[in-house]
Amino acid sequence: MPHGQDVEGDTSDISSKYECLQCGKIVEAETHPGECEECGGDFQNRAKSVE
Ligand SMILES: [Zn+2]
Repeated sequence: MPHGQDVEGDTSDISSKYECLQCGKIVEAETHPGECEECGGDFQNRAKSVE
């Protein structure tokens, strides 16, 4: 293992995308971001397929 920094950016396994239900802001986080920093709205996890 010469280098371990080559794959930085491929963190889809631990990060999920969350979309603000009010303003549509997208954030990527490992855990639920809580409330939107823009409008204080709730985030919805959009990592899993939307039915
Ligand atoms: Zn928002």
